[in-house]
Amino acid sequence: MKLVTKIFKRNDWYITSNYGWRICPFHGKEFHPGVDYGTNIQKWPLYAIEDGYVQLIHYGSKGYGNYVWVRYPRLNISVFHAHLDKICVKNKQKVNTETIIGYTGKTGNATGIHLHLGMTKIGSNTWLNPHDYDYDLESNKEINNSNKIIYIVKKGDSLWNIAKKYYKDGRKYTKIAEKNNIKKPYTIYPNQKLIIP
Ligand SMILES: [Zn+2]
Repeated sequence: MKLVTKIFKRNDWYITSNYGWRICPFHGKEFHPGVDYGTNIQKWPLYAIEDGYVQLIHYGSKGYGNYVWVRYPRLNISVFHAHLDKICVKNKQKVNTETIIGYTGKTGNATGIHLHLGMTKIGSNTWLNPHDYDYDLESNKEINNSNKIIYIVKKGDSLWNIAKKYYKDGRKYTKIAEKNNIKKPYTIYPNQKLIIP
């Protein structure tokens, strides 16, 4: 599931501007460090992805308008929600999947109601493309230093004996996974991490 689907708890959003270089109606050529998701000219609620806390809220009429940063320690990401019509959380507040962070709007430099969604690793100032990441509660995953999804593994798998030889080498593990037609990552040791491209 796309992160944005998790945030909206619905999947009828549409992309109005992609991550990357673009011609901005306000600034000309610029790097767009997130993805804009249209919400059908309506103010949709934004939900927290999972347990986390509010890092920063900001009310403004310029730039990103009203925005909220939420940190998710387990996923090791900070998520940026901008141009909100309304903010429903406070600084430092704990959040969970039932928490409404705010509602989509067009505050700041926006031509219509949408969510600007940005993402970084916690403590990093490098933007990631949030549309590249899926959220899958079952897989217990986070985002690692090379910006790939990694999986935290658990003991007790049919490939345990083979994979444990290679657990330090994500590429070798991937070959094993491909060879065995494994769609989902397999488990080796508790808290051991594997890189799955
Ligand atoms: Zn944007």
